Amino acid sequence: MIQDIFPSRLDNSFKNLSPVDEDLLIIFNSEGRICLGKSGTDILFPKCSEIKAAGFVYLFSLDEKRFFLSLHEDTFEKEGFLFYSIREVRDHFSGKEVYAVFTAYHLWKWYSDNVFCGKCGDILELDDKERALRCPKCGNIIYPRINPAVIVGVIKGDSILITRYRAGYSHNALVAGFTEIGETFEETVAREVMEETGVKVKNIRYYKSQPWGMAQDILVGYYCDAEPDSEIRMDESELKYAEWVKREDIVLQPNNLSLTNEMMRRFKEGCEV
Ligand SMILES: [Zn+2]
Repeated sequence: MIQDIFPSRLDNSFKNLSPVDEDLLIIFNSEGRICLGKSGTDILFPKCSEIKAAGFVYLFSLDEKRFFLSLHEDTFEKEGFLFYSIREVRDHFSGKEVYAVFTAYHLWKWYSDNVFCGKCGDILELDDKERALRCPKCGNIIYPRINPAVIVGVIKGDSILITRYRAGYSHNALVAGFTEIGETFEETVAREVMEETGVKVKNIRYYKSQPWGMAQDILVGYYCDAEPDSEIRMDESELKYAEWVKREDIVLQPNNLSLTNEMMRRFKEGCEV
């Protein structure tokens, strides 16, 4: 999965640091595309020394490399560097830096969506003690937003419920959906499976979680069993495909970044789920 980078480590603990020349720079443009260089399938980042701008904020470290976000600059010109969408990064790059890009995207999206105070409209300031934005006028504090969502492997005998979304990502997936306010994860699992496919489930059991970030989300993976008499009634506004697929017939995603793919692969390989 994207976060499985051991023995490397992404340290995202908050620190109020100033950049030095060798630190790496995250630059997103207004369309949410990130500036990267490419060396084979490896990712290269601009350096802080290569841009003359103010307004850098420390994001995290990947092993010994420190990453800063440029809050105001959204252009960068250097031979071999282009602006890539997060989906292009997912499809065309590999390595631990993909995890850094996804995490940086989530942080950039939060910073860029929170320029003004939602209570009084004043311009927010960076807090120097924690990852937060603070309104100098009314004292409102805004913490990073993380949207919880479940990924569900629904099992029926020797088959699993495979879906494909109507829009967006086109490869095989599992049932997925965001948690509503006032709901447990297990209730989200039962509700989303019912809404998207009409299937009633039982024996809901936790598998693993995954920071994802493409939708400012954290994914929580569960397996569960379909009630034996369940028939699929697909929600055609969300899905274009929902079928029971036998282990040996499961077609996996093109890479192993996602929790969804790991959950499909484990079932395909006959692991205990
Ligand atoms: Zn305010």
